[in-house]
Amino acid sequence: MTLVFVETDESGQVALTSAEALTFARTNADVLAADSFSAGVEAAVIGALTEAATEQLAALGVDRIHHLETADLEAYSAPAWAQALVDIAPETGAVLASGTPRGMELMTHVAVRTGERMAANVVAADEEGLLRQVLGGAAFERLQVGGDLQVLTLAGHACNPEETTPTTPEIFTHSPETAAEDLRVRVVRTEVETADDNDTSGLTQARAVVGAGRGVGSENGFGEVLELVDHLGGALGVSRVVTGLGWRPHTEQVGQTGSRITPDVYIACGISGAIQHMAGIEGAKTLIAINTDEESTMVQRADYAIIGDLHEVIGAVNEEIRNRRG
Ligand SMILES: Cc1cc2nc3c(=O)[nH]c(=O)nc-3n(C[C@H](O)[C@H](O)[C@H](O)COP(=O)(O)OP(=O)(O)OC[C@H]3O[C@@H](n4cnc5c(N)ncnc54)[C@H](O)[C@@H]3O)c2cc1C
Repeated sequence: MTLVFVETDESGQVALTSAEALTFARTNADVLAADSFSAGVEAAVIGALTEAATEQLAALGVDRIHHLETADLEAYSAPAWAQALVDIAPETGAVLASGTPRGMELMTHVAVRTGERMAANVVAADEEGLLRQVLGGAAFERLQVGGDLQVLTLAGHACNPEETTPTTPEIFTHSPETAAEDLRVRVVRTEVETADDNDTSGLTQARAVVGAGRGVGSENGFGEVLELVDHLGGALGVSRVVTGLGWRPHTEQVGQTGSRITPDVYIACGISGAIQHMAGIEGAKTLIAINTDEESTMVQRADYAIIGDLHEVIGAVNEEIRNRRG
């Protein structure tokens, strides 16, 4: 059996990343639970379980839902939540979470508490074992975890969420007792800036993304880039240097520590192509680089490259678009 830790958003809907993990668990159930008694998929929801989430879990083919709700589990606490998962984890099979910060943290605790090994950033599973991405997605390695229970996280976008014939999941309600020592580390307050400030959905769902890096030159150098974003009806994505310098907010960062994007086209302007940035654009269908350095990794990896000053190049492109649109 495979137990999937499910994250929900503020409105109680199943997070897209968890839907990916549930689909992965269902489509690989035979492999993940090869030595288990049952090849089913069970979902663990900590905190409120809404009707919408229950319906979504059914549509994603979940056989059983474990709903864990107590006052001690209300605020996120990695040790307490992990122990609650360990208590309901199968003896054989797999425990899986999507590779979000929370999923990563929880699975690490689960692995330690069960004495099992953990495989992070898994992208595929078959009879030969697991395939996982390393070096920010630049390479892959095969591995066999061994042990009775496989503790895994799924790399972002490794699997498209897919609904199936809806199930009628049994719901098991648990009120586990939490040891005081497991509550020493817990979230005591969450501050949300504003919905807009934290929203990366425009970036992750855009069909066209214009990326801007240090080559833009300064906080005031984004004029042409933003105009191009506007013409394309796309989104702006930036490198970590740009967010680190405070030129743009972190929500716009693309890469290993930013958003992973899958646009039809990514136009990287003044971005060198560091491995951590490339990790975020692996899923782009077409890559266009605009850079003064023809030796840069971005230019070398691009499908099309324009060697030149980005302000001049994008300025000319914008002018052409304006002229053609009258
Ligand atoms: C743990 C860790 C996590 C990280 N996570 C991320 C991440 O999520 N995302 C990320 O982006 N980075 C990340 N980084 C940082 C990463 O290693 C690079 O430092 C960063 O991506 C470089 O940003 P850049 O390409 O904008 O700047 P640079 O590397 O300085 O490149 C600037 C580029 O602009 C070009 N250029 C300069 N002037 C012009 C011009 N006028 N016109 C056209 N081209 C020009 C240059 O030729 C160069 O190629 C991470 C690093 C670490 C250690």
